[in-house]
Amino acid sequence: MTAPQRAAPSGAIPGTSATVEPRIGMTMGIIGGGQLGRMSAMAAAQLGVDTHVYCTSDDDPGAQVATRVTVGALDDREALAAFAASCDVITYEFENLPWEPIAELGATVPVRPSPRLLQVAQDRIYEKGAIRDLGLPTVEYAQVRDGHELREAIDRLGVPAILKTARLGYDGKGQRRVSSVDEALVAFEALGSVPCVLEEVVDFACEVSVVVARDADGTTAAFDVTENEHRDHILSVSHAPARVDVPTAKAAITLAEQLARGLELVGIIGVEMFVQREGGLLVNEIAPRPHNTGHWTQDGCRVSQFEQHVHAVCGLPLGDPTRHANVTMHNLLGDEVGRWAGWLADDTARVHLYGKREVRPGRKMGHVNVLAPLEGLQTGRRKRRR
Ligand code: ADP
Ligand code: MG
Repeated sequence: MTAPQRAAPSGAIPGTSATVEPRIGMTMGIIGGGQLGRMSAMAAAQLGVDTHVYCTSDDDPGAQVATRVTVGALDDREALAAFAASCDVITYEFENLPWEPIAELGATVPVRPSPRLLQVAQDRIYEKGAIRDLGLPTVEYAQVRDGHELREAIDRLGVPAILKTARLGYDGKGQRRVSSVDEALVAFEALGSVPCVLEEVVDFACEVSVVVARDADGTTAAFDVTENEHRDHILSVSHAPARVDVPTAKAAITLAEQLARGLELVGIIGVEMFVQREGGLLVNEIAPRPHNTGHWTQDGCRVSQFEQHVHAVCGLPLGDPTRHANVTMHNLLGDEVGRWAGWLADDTARVHLYGKREVRPGRKMGHVNVLAPLEGLQTGRRKRRR
């Protein structure tokens, strides 16, 4: 018998549905100091919104450009409360945060997207359960908490399969492809014998994603579907628009909108999907924050994902996500950043660097958006709540 799956948590956290009154000079708190916070803070500055970044080093990419910075541990409730007291609204820029202290802040200051969504998105078991509970397609999977469940999961799903830690994985970290029970048992131990999910290996034609914003009134704004190429499990290149047929692109947009509505998102979310070889989409994972595969919007759309994120979080009307160029986004990983001056000499390229001082293999140091004339599918759309 298969063990019962851990149910995704649901229900509102007190205080987090409070409205946010936008005003010039308001302060948006950002928990996390990475490049997503940095680019959100830059977008906020353009809109007259101050930012207060809470992070672990005053030289973090986000801290370098914020109006104000607090350096503290991510679970330091006292420091977080003092930070929150200066903010009109709080958001976060990565999922691997202790969510309870952030949920507590919601009692005094609105947190967007909701801490509940953070809790769901940071745990692959909750995440997949939530997608399934909404009746949306995801990869076949099983939760694995011990060797017994792992054997059962392999019996059901077969091999090859992918074993992923339920929490704290990113850029392919915390996952192993396994081809037998023995290999799976070794991998489970190597991953620390922590709760995991086992997934079938999807034979995909390509990977796509949709970044969609939703405001507190229920209006959604989805950007065009993006096609993503990974190298060593790390995003390398994104193409906008995705090279998929019209029905697939429309279905991807609709799926992302359904998730945004179903998860009661206020803010922005990146939805990663597999396009199966035989057709049809499967949701891989969601991230309730600006997404690497949405970086192309900075130079290819009327409003970027970072601006849209600020709009949604601060209670401003969502902008028009229409695309005005074709864009290929190249991540600058590790020492690829050394080529930035060469990219700057290319008139079609727009360079974005994150201010990281130390180059490490595979580390996201910046990205380049290469622009081409507008062609192909326009599927991004704004949908007002009826
Ligand atoms: P993360 O991005 O958090 O590291 P993902 O689940 O998105 O984790 O996995 C990273 C990449 O690994 C995916 O974009 C995809 O290329 C590949 N991958 C992950 N899960 C599967 C799967 N079930 N089948 C095939 N490829 C997968
Ligand atoms: Mg991913």
